[in-house]
Amino acid sequence: MDTYLLEQLKKTIKGDVLTDEETLASYSHDASLFEVKPQVVVFPKDEEDVKALVRFVAQNKTNNPSLTLTARSAGTDMSGGSINDSIIVAFEKYFNHIPKIHGNVATTQPGVYYRDFEKETLKHNLIFPSYPASREICAMGGIVNNNAGGEKSLHYGKTERYVKRIKVVLSDGNTYELKALSQIELGKKILLKTFEGEIYKKMYKLITDNYSEIMKAKPQVSKNSAGYNLWDIWDKDKKTFDLTKLFVGSQGTLGFLLEADIELVPIHKHREMMIIFLHDLSHLDQIIEIALSLNPESFESYDDNTLKLALRYFPEFARQLGPFGMIQASIAFLPAFISFFTGQSLPKLVLQVDFTSDDSKEVEQKIATLKERLKPLHPQTQVAKDSEEKRYWLVRRESFNLLRKKIREKHTAPFIDDFVIKPKYIGEVIPQVTDILKKHPEFIFTVAGHVGDGNFHIIPLVDIKNPNVRTAIPEISDQVYAIVAKYKGSITGEHNDGMIRTPYLKVMFGEKITDLFAETKKIFDPDNIFNPGKKVGGTLKHAMNHIRQNW
Ligand SMILES: Cc1cc2nc3c(=O)[nH]c(=O)nc-3n(C[C@H](O)[C@H](O)[C@H](O)COP(=O)(O)OP(=O)(O)OC[C@H]3O[C@@H](n4cnc5c(N)ncnc54)[C@H](O)[C@@H]3O)c2cc1C
Repeated sequence: MDTYLLEQLKKTIKGDVLTDEETLASYSHDASLFEVKPQVVVFPKDEEDVKALVRFVAQNKTNNPSLTLTARSAGTDMSGGSINDSIIVAFEKYFNHIPKIHGNVATTQPGVYYRDFEKETLKHNLIFPSYPASREICAMGGIVNNNAGGEKSLHYGKTERYVKRIKVVLSDGNTYELKALSQIELGKKILLKTFEGEIYKKMYKLITDNYSEIMKAKPQVSKNSAGYNLWDIWDKDKKTFDLTKLFVGSQGTLGFLLEADIELVPIHKHREMMIIFLHDLSHLDQIIEIALSLNPESFESYDDNTLKLALRYFPEFARQLGPFGMIQASIAFLPAFISFFTGQSLPKLVLQVDFTSDDSKEVEQKIATLKERLKPLHPQTQVAKDSEEKRYWLVRRESFNLLRKKIREKHTAPFIDDFVIKPKYIGEVIPQVTDILKKHPEFIFTVAGHVGDGNFHIIPLVDIKNPNVRTAIPEISDQVYAIVAKYKGSITGEHNDGMIRTPYLKVMFGEKITDLFAETKKIFDPDNIFNPGKKVGGTLKHAMNHIRQNW
């Protein structure tokens, strides 16, 4: 950015405008495989600053076409969603006021870390049930804009279900409130001779003109963060038109989120978990079906490679449980340790089936029924009560984070990290995917995920400097996403499209629907100000040219 423009930008907002090399280097990364250096990082102080930023870019765009704005909350996006080459707008510094809770709704700013958000909700015995595994390091802005999901999404659904109202700044530099509108309210909006009126008119037309194609394209799996959610905006039965459904999960490509009203749910008093250790996967499909029939709150899994890494780095893992928890965890994992160090085989897959209720009898009954129904299949099982559960969760929750930090010379490469298929196809699809990876010995991989949702996190560990690795990434992606499309799955259940998956939206949705995504983007952001290249217009070539060089 030239000096004159930079000086103008500094005069435009009260917040910080930074261009020092250290800041630019740090904001060149998120938790993805990519590296894109911004020109400036700004920290807006308040709503007026955010509006001024949008107006600044809109006014200077003709003379500086590469000027754009990319929002960032905690920067833990795994798809390259929060990095770009122009202005990064960081919300974590000033948009982090303590959330306000009224009844069962929390009003939050985007820069509030989930861990702080939850501290407040727990005071009311309430929780936002779609928190991601990155709960300790991510913020609410990213949760909303990625339509994040997590271990409880099987029972409670994803973020989209809980966002009731949002305050946003759109590309005309004004603030708007989005929420579900009745047909009469929609009619009034459409009549407005303003940018807002145009948006409602054009979006209503786009949806009603293409209604049957849009509904046909709605992913038939339990979770999806791919593309723009066009199928839930217009609810024909309830006769409501709700643009929050579109905005949630749009990765900051339609505008900036300033505030969100998020519905919370009560915490259940009792919980028990059954852990199932599978040494072979021949009965996997049946076990999944049996477990799902009992409506668990969560149903998660991790493979033997994940377990091996957890055992190897056990002290780092268990430290988070405190001294007493560490002893307990050591006892719980003792059989696995013995197998590991004496060279015996570890279970190929560990399944965690978690039941909760306010009635302790109901939980006990479900565990007993599950035991009974699994008996003919003879899996090795163990039951963990309330406090004991933590240690099992630790491996599942922390596995990816641990891999990110621990393995020397190798790095986590999320690129096929989040696909979803119907659970009944797991037994068929996972071996096909792992067979593809096994053809590339440079890729060490672990498989963990939300087995109940058919949502898998396969995150290989690689030496990113190895040229074979770099050429294999698009090859493997092509093959895996072709399989996902064949089984009518989603390329991303929760981590979203970003740089890595935007090029595959056509494989999943086809030409017509991706054209509608492009039209949607144009309606909201005609000058392509917000986070360009994500959701619309991103190419695999651009992504591959920005794979991290340094870690
Ligand atoms: C160890 C680890 C585990 C993870 N596990 C999960 C998981 O279980 N489930 C899951 O869903 N994700 C997971 N993720 C991915 C990521 O952490 C989550 O999606 C998280 O919600 C992102 O939050 P953030 O604040 O870091 O977002 P950021 O990275 O800051 O942003 C994410 C996206 O939202 C946009 N955005 C951010 N703030 C705004 C705003 N104010 N206005 C408009 N757009 C905005 C950004 O431009 C970007 O496209 C994981 C990541 C890591 C590193």
